[in-house]
Amino acid sequence: MPRIVRLPGAPPVPGAVDAGSIEEAVEVAVEEASREEEVLIVGRGAWEAYGEAAWRLRMEGGNFYLLEALDADEEKLHRDGASKLFMARLAYLARRRARDAVLEPAGGGKRVSRRTLLRTAVVGSAMDYTEKPIHDQLCGKKPLGDYCSWCLDACDVEGGCAASAALCGVELLHVPGYSRAGLQDMLRLLSITGPGYALIAPRSVLAKLVQELGNSSPGHPVVVVPVSCPYVVGLEELLALRGLGLEPIMVDDGWERELRRCRESRKTYLETVAADYEGITGASLAIVEAGKAVGLVQEEPGLEPLGDALELLGRGLRPLALAVAKRSGVSADLRTGFTGLVIVDQERCTLCGACAKECPTGALKLREEAEGSALLFLHDRCIACGWCREVCPEDAITVKRAINPAIIDSLVSLVAGEELRCIVCGNPVGPTRMVEKVVEKLLASGIDPEKMPTILMCSTCKQKYSLGLIDEAKVDWEALRRFVQRARARTAAG
Ligand code: SF4
Ligand code: SF4
Repeated sequence: MPRIVRLPGAPPVPGAVDAGSIEEAVEVAVEEASREEEVLIVGRGAWEAYGEAAWRLRMEGGNFYLLEALDADEEKLHRDGASKLFMARLAYLARRRARDAVLEPAGGGKRVSRRTLLRTAVVGSAMDYTEKPIHDQLCGKKPLGDYCSWCLDACDVEGGCAASAALCGVELLHVPGYSRAGLQDMLRLLSITGPGYALIAPRSVLAKLVQELGNSSPGHPVVVVPVSCPYVVGLEELLALRGLGLEPIMVDDGWERELRRCRESRKTYLETVAADYEGITGASLAIVEAGKAVGLVQEEPGLEPLGDALELLGRGLRPLALAVAKRSGVSADLRTGFTGLVIVDQERCTLCGACAKECPTGALKLREEAEGSALLFLHDRCIACGWCREVCPEDAITVKRAINPAIIDSLVSLVAGEELRCIVCGNPVGPTRMVEKVVEKLLASGIDPEKMPTILMCSTCKQKYSLGLIDEAKVDWEALRRFVQRARARTAAG
């Protein structure tokens, strides 16, 4: 549980440290954060206190990511009860891995390996560590060039940037000042739907922004999403916010006190996340300075929430985001790995199931039933990482970064084939295509499969036959001969 520093104007919180002034709140916050405690400053002037405390910690080499704030003025924006807002901000802080932040200044030859970046996964830290592109392996698997490389593409800008995290389809990467899961928790606790706005703004501008907005009291909900760098917010979150009827407005301002180098994420972000957002929704993403954001938020919002937005949000940001994409009805090629399309060459695929076994998100499934096998694809889960293409022994797969609203929320059969029957008991053996491939390979190696009846036996009969427990007369040798002959004919035909 974080330490709560309570300024005047905040509701009573058990265990909170009461601060009579902003200066007092700053002192307590710095002291607690220096002891590696997470701190939530609440009450009137909370963002101002945050600004001072974060600046002090930064100057002293402390971890300013441990700080979060909730200003009394924000209540006027949400208009939904101080305690709900408090719980939501608390949840937002709890999910981001602020303690992971490494704030040592960059050394000349110091490098962070890609694996470290992904395992400890703090992009902000990597930025402080190195200015060089980072090349290593992803999660100890294949070289990145052959696997998912969205984050690497972004990191190549300059040794790591916030957009890397925005591009990661499964949030393996994160920045200490933001968490996708935290945003989901926050939105669930708030249970707010629009028409309204979501203001994604660096913490360093929130003191001014919240005060100005509080004074003007827009007549519709405005959800504040505090970030260190707005370019960490991915396509999934932006679409989900739209699903709730909250039009996202990103504030590109106030960098000086926080992650100055986040500016470098801007170009990557515009070319990837913002471009995809526009491609799917037809609306351009508002990325504006703080002054302009105040004006935009006053305008009458026009975005209607999805009818089942809160129910979808309960299942996650991704189902909500996909429902928005489905509503838009727009098929588009994407630049991010938000979702992908898997195309399988029907002639090559043997239904071996290797791709389904290896897919990290469960987007591919091999359904094996007595009547036949099928390779099934769930577009909703695919993040276009390309790993299935890497593992397919038949080079049968092509992966496309794209979205197809027609197959959202449905299981698509990519390849289907008959199940081979055991030549002893008649039980299913496996996909016929796969066994055919095995037989063809044996023939190509000069081995005679007709002398290997176990190839066409189920696992039980295989075992029994090896132990001499099956009478030779019970084996359907004729079926084996026909099967091998067909394979020979195919091999001869090339
Ligand atoms: S289906 Fe392929 S591209 Fe999609 S998530 Fe699975 S392994 Fe990655
Ligand atoms: S696509 Fe490739 S890996 Fe997947 S079932 Fe077919 S042959 Fe096996």
